[in-house]
Amino acid sequence: MTKPFSKILIANRGEIACRVMRTAKRMGIDTVAVYSDADADALHVMTADEAVHIGGAAVADSYLKGDVIIDAALQSGAEAIHPGYGFLSENPDFVDAVEKAGLVFIGPSASAIRAMGLKDAAKKLMIEAGVPVVPGYHGSNQDADFLAAEAEKVGYPVLIKARAGGGGKGMRLVERPEDFAMSLEGASREGMASFGDGHVLIEKYVTAPRHIEIQVFGDNHGNVVHLFERDCSLQRRHQKVIEEAPAPGMTDAMRKAMGDAAVTAAEAINYSGAGTIEFIVDGSNGLSTDAFWFMEMNTRLQVEHPVTEFITGQDLVEWQLLVASGAKLPKSQSELSINGHAFEARIYAEDVPKGFLPATGKLEHLRFSKCSRNDTGVREGDVITPFYDPMIAKIITHGATRSEALGKMGNALADTQIAGTVTNTSFLAALCAHEGFAKGEVDTGLIDRELEALIKVDDASSKVIALASLCVLGLDHCDASLGSYRNWGSASHRCLLELDGERHEVYSHSTNSDGSVAYVVGEAKHTIEFIERNGDETVCRIDGQIWNFSTTQYRGHLVLFVGGKTFDFAIPDPLAGSGHEGEAGNLVVAPMPGLIKKISAKTGDAVNEGDALLVLEAMKMEHTLIAPRDGIIAEMNAEEGDQVEDGAVLVVLEDQDE
Ligand code: ADP
Ligand code: ADP
Ligand code: MG
Repeated sequence: MTKPFSKILIANRGEIACRVMRTAKRMGIDTVAVYSDADADALHVMTADEAVHIGGAAVADSYLKGDVIIDAALQSGAEAIHPGYGFLSENPDFVDAVEKAGLVFIGPSASAIRAMGLKDAAKKLMIEAGVPVVPGYHGSNQDADFLAAEAEKVGYPVLIKARAGGGGKGMRLVERPEDFAMSLEGASREGMASFGDGHVLIEKYVTAPRHIEIQVFGDNHGNVVHLFERDCSLQRRHQKVIEEAPAPGMTDAMRKAMGDAAVTAAEAINYSGAGTIEFIVDGSNGLSTDAFWFMEMNTRLQVEHPVTEFITGQDLVEWQLLVASGAKLPKSQSELSINGHAFEARIYAEDVPKGFLPATGKLEHLRFSKCSRNDTGVREGDVITPFYDPMIAKIITHGATRSEALGKMGNALADTQIAGTVTNTSFLAALCAHEGFAKGEVDTGLIDRELEALIKVDDASSKVIALASLCVLGLDHCDASLGSYRNWGSASHRCLLELDGERHEVYSHSTNSDGSVAYVVGEAKHTIEFIERNGDETVCRIDGQIWNFSTTQYRGHLVLFVGGKTFDFAIPDPLAGSGHEGEAGNLVVAPMPGLIKKISAKTGDAVNEGDALLVLEAMKMEHTLIAPRDGIIAEMNAEEGDQVEDGAVLVVLEDQDE
């Protein structure tokens, strides 16, 4: 293999920067990382051969500073820049500047990105090329009444999309005409906030929609191939949650029709490099060649590219580097084939019961499964900050069949141990165990329909609480053969534990002659016998049954990983008072640091439980904060445009008659 470049700069951070460096290293290419103030010790910086500091923590001060990044490439002697995904990856002005500086952009031409950059223009182009496109309005008239009339013509339900949108942002599903005006305002405002462009388009909302996309690749010699499809129908708020390849129920005829359409789309813009053509598919009657439509093209490497790598046996980053250096595509269409099935699940720091709120925190403990590919940009001890995407890792599995690959994913998620921040891991595991998903019955509404069951938090059983108190009392560290238990005599111990705000009191005594200890948790009583400890794992016998579990401790917390579940117990300070508990129902608190975008109530207003009070923008998304109960607003402590801290009390409610 000829080396396409000697040194490249990766204009990104996190898992994708690490992912690109992995292939570069394997190909003997030196790598240059760039980093912000917040990322000085980040994994991507440690992974690279050299690293250049490019500015402050906010993305606008660092990862979006094209000129500073180009300077860093020139200074370090890199010949090419890989943009990863997000940030500058789909910015044609950046591509122009890179080329003007005499460097190679590892990605498509600026003109191809421009052609596909705005969803409205891309759609017009695709109609001309003969690619099927979702019916709707993609014109320039943005008058609210005019757009409402267009929505009527298209027929409800409709989808309003910011034309510059991406990552599911700036999109609103509208079911009824009376909701149109408010949704238009929201989509446009989000488009403006995230992409600096408030223009929207209207699309027919496809029923029983499935998101099926085709990976395409072009080179500078006029060749274009596709590397088959990925099904990304498992979504929440139009964001992908679990992806797979191939698509369940795919037929040869459908694959050929979609593959041909994708190649036509790429050829229409002389595409070179990695790209994805996203289609929306009407899955209400199986897969049919006249029921798929172009949605958009992502002119970059996709987050979910690893599933394609698993089923094709190709390294897409290697392809990108080769093509960017002027080489021909490594394989022709007829040389590509599908082997088995692959899944990817995205693990995020987010609070699922709190409406999937992005979370922050220190990764006090981090372990991945040894039986999956784990693409990550963090390691134990790193902090998930509010500055960047809170994705912790992508877990990817491969099997000969769909059910084998899905089974492996279930196991890999059960083996994933994360403490110090909340994550969506158990939600992902619940999805993998979902009966319909297991049968391949996917559509983009599945998660919403099944949400209640999927986010159900299992209460800790009294056995789990007993195990936790065993760990708190330190018995799992004892070697039973040394008789440590017996030293206890028949003394009783009391242990206080708190889980999700609920307090548990456990009493234990070691009266049994075999060294087992009895634990009383509320009404329940369990006998636990410590057997052994292997590294992180403890084995014990609880009421005659063997259990394996792992634990970790951090700042007043004991975390128990058992049966694929995570229980994070706080160990309360018995001397501390109860604090503001009584007030909790009266307060609306900022769940994370962010910007107040909108305030919809003022001091003195009477509000009902569930009323929207404020819109907080954080992590590039809008979060509506609602009234926790009926009442009168006694204090409104925020103004539009305020930057607020995590935990700031924004609204105080009082009773009607106070
Ligand atoms: P799609 O554009 O179809 O959603 P991807 O899921 O690959 O495709 O990623 C979308 C883009 O949005 C990427 O460029 C990524 O940087 C960005 N993105 C994805 N998820 C998030 C997120 N949770 N927060 C911020 N940006 C995101
Ligand atoms: P983004 O740039 O944010 O990825 P997309 O246009 O790719 O925007 O749409 C994101 C998701 O929204 C799709 O994956 C799909 O689930 C849903 N979606 C988009 N267009 C339609 C449509 N016309 N009908 C039904 N669902 C749609
Ligand atoms: Mg998309």
